[in-house]
Amino acid sequence: ALMITDECINCDVCEPECPNEAISLGPEIYQIDPDKCTECVGHFDEPQCVQVCPVACIPVNPDRIEDRDSLWRKFQRLSDPA
Ligand code: SF4
Ligand code: SF4
Repeated sequence: ALMITDECINCDVCEPECPNEAISLGPEIYQIDPDKCTECVGHFDEPQCVQVCPVACIPVNPDRIEDRDSLWRKFQRLSDPA
């Protein structure tokens, strides 16, 4: 999963781009729910939030390093929660 650092300027452009609705406005800045972020695997070739962020403040979450297979399984779980 990716994460948003405190360099976020709350510009709001990433939130509507996320195919998993993983991005929301937190208490101070935008945040990513790591349980919903597939790094866009299953939807796009590149993380859409990273593509649009004007200040490049969306790195990989060091607490949630995931390989492509686990991201793909997360995508499948989110697509079909049953
Ligand atoms: Fe959403 Fe993709 Fe960004 Fe993850 S990488 S927060 S799934 S837009
Ligand atoms: Fe913050 Fe970047 Fe999202 Fe803008 S695009 S709200 S600066 S994380």
